[in-house]
Amino acid sequence: MKIIVHNDKCQGHARCWAMAPHIFDLDDEGYIKPGDIEVAEADEKLAWKGAKSCPERALEIEK
Ligand code: SF4
Repeated sequence: MKIIVHNDKCQGHARCWAMAPHIFDLDDEGYIKPGDIEVAEADEKLAWKGAKSCPERALEIEK
């Protein structure tokens, strides 16, 4: 599973990071770092929750 990161939508709420800091890497200002995220199979559930927790819909799940 892959998460497509839409940096233009990120508002730095850090909710994704709060859910899974090892999956969602933020910069020093609390914005998601650019680049799509390849998610390991064992992390899929957590990654899905983190992506869904983003109120800006900046994290798109690609199956
Ligand atoms: S939850 Fe969404 S808006 Fe907040 S840091 Fe993560 S990607 Fe950005």
